[in-house]
Amino acid sequence: VSAFATRRSYAELRPYRPDRRPCAVDLSDNTNLWGSPPAALAALREGAGGEARYPAAQADALREALAGYAGVRPEEVVTGCGSDDVLDSALRALAEPGARLAFPWPTFTMIPDFARMNGLKPVPVALRADGQPDAEALLRAAPDLVYLCSPNNPTGLEAEARTVERLLAESGAVLILDEAYAEFAGAGWLGSAPAHPRLLVVRTLSKAFGLAGVRVGYAAGSAALVAEVEKSRGPYKVSTPAETAARAALSPAGLAWVRARVEEARSERAFLGAEAARIPGVEPLSSRANFVLLRLTGGREAAEVAGALRERGVAVRPFAALPGLGEALRVTVGPRPLLESFLDALAEVLR
Ligand SMILES: *Cc1c(COP(=O)(O)O)cnc(C)c1O
Repeated sequence: VSAFATRRSYAELRPYRPDRRPCAVDLSDNTNLWGSPPAALAALREGAGGEARYPAAQADALREALAGYAGVRPEEVVTGCGSDDVLDSALRALAEPGARLAFPWPTFTMIPDFARMNGLKPVPVALRADGQPDAEALLRAAPDLVYLCSPNNPTGLEAEARTVERLLAESGAVLILDEAYAEFAGAGWLGSAPAHPRLLVVRTLSKAFGLAGVRVGYAAGSAALVAEVEKSRGPYKVSTPAETAARAALSPAGLAWVRARVEEARSERAFLGAEAARIPGVEPLSSRANFVLLRLTGGREAAEVAGALRERGVAVRPFAALPGLGEALRVTVGPRPLLESFLDALAEVLR
């Protein structure tokens, strides 16, 4: 018996503790393996000052820069300490405790946890056999909120436009569209989010922008929707150094670096998929993100294969028994020598 009262929905929650032991070739977390924009690093080095005072309560200068990038107005943008924080704030702001959050499954593994953290009921809805979200079943789940990730983590597949349109048209629920990897797909709903009263598009600077350690995420939506999320977000979520680095990453020099790395990631993604497909027992999904999901079709367990890779200095993310997909490894795309090390190690482990 606990000596203090606890929240019942927290009984099933465990703190997220990924394996972060150093590894020579770490392809496990979908961060930018080319590094960070030099403009952001220079701004961090040169931008010191003001640490004794609070940052801007709602990061207004950053909001303005993000609005310019997204093609929306500043009051249609809300920022946070990573997009995890934005997702968490949105789930808290846009539904009452006990409400139903429906999402295709498998998807971002933090989502059921964020639902429980906010007293919401997670309602997973199996992806269709073709890997697309099942709009029909999501609507039938009578959700108060719908979460969709596109391109989806861990499958890498993009949701079809008609699926998003149908959910917006036929459900009264707010649609939270997580576009953490949209830069690698080259498309998305960011700029059009404010035109839809029930669409919140969430993005991050942790992936294509190479700033996962800086912790900046944001969302775009109608000014009315964004204002509600801002209430639960609270003030001072973006630190002064984070705002400095993020604004530099959004400068013309920063964006040029990001675009060049995205191009590189796309061509390395094609290399990784094509080479992995040549290894017996491996079936890559066709990805639109900066990672590729490799299905293990030869009867091997993902955790066991990932363990053997780790012994060879390579880290990837294993997934056990994914509905419709089975055992699989999610592998982050990076510079060619890292991918070659991974492919050699995988071929050896599966031999
Ligand atoms: C990595 C990732 C995030 C980003 O998290 P941050 O908190 O911004 O670092 C959000 N959604 C998905 C699906 C992700 O894979």
